[in-house]
Amino acid sequence: MASCCQYYVPAYLRWAGTFRIKTNRPELFLTFDDGPSPKATSFVLDTLQQVDAKATFFVSGKNTEQYPELFNRIKNEGHTIGNHGYTHLNGLKTDTKTYIDNINQGHKIVQSPLFRPPYGKMKIAQYFKLRKQFNIVFWTIMSRDFDTTTTWQQDFEIIKSHLAKGIIIVFHDTPKAEKKLKNLLPAIIKYGMEQNFSFQCLPESYTKPLSR
Ligand SMILES: [Zn+2]
Repeated sequence: MASCCQYYVPAYLRWAGTFRIKTNRPELFLTFDDGPSPKATSFVLDTLQQVDAKATFFVSGKNTEQYPELFNRIKNEGHTIGNHGYTHLNGLKTDTKTYIDNINQGHKIVQSPLFRPPYGKMKIAQYFKLRKQFNIVFWTIMSRDFDTTTTWQQDFEIIKSHLAKGIIIVFHDTPKAEKKLKNLLPAIIKYGMEQNFSFQCLPESYTKPLSR
């Protein structure tokens, strides 16, 4: 697939973890990283709720401690939670013990079998340790919602051109991404529904690879 897919993930990890869900149904898997944050997460939840769409939120443990009501709202509305670390460490720049401790600190708070490494990066030793504990989920398409050098319309065209059964798309429910997300997310949901896709959350499972 095009270079936007597996965007950022180092080549040696491209055989590892889940990049796409095996499904015969027309389902898309929206994921939101780095939250919760008050305005962006509320916007995402309101938007999903309007069309009864489900998604997965790879939350920061630290932000979850800060905004427990948003974390509870995500869960109460039937979405899946994933662990994204206590803070947003880059595994390649962090020694393995510090990195694993940070992921476990996040796990104590968010309690999910799913883990997505911040930046999609980690050392191979970190991967082998974490895969014993977690189902490691990457993505099929990284939206550029955080990127101020592209427009939301350009991001939308890239995502549209890759829509297919079982793809996992990354967004960010953060203040930085919020501006583009306000247009991008409703546009993708509308287009996906017109193409008869439904929006599902990832199964909260240790099964490797994830399938439905
Ligand atoms: Zn992240």
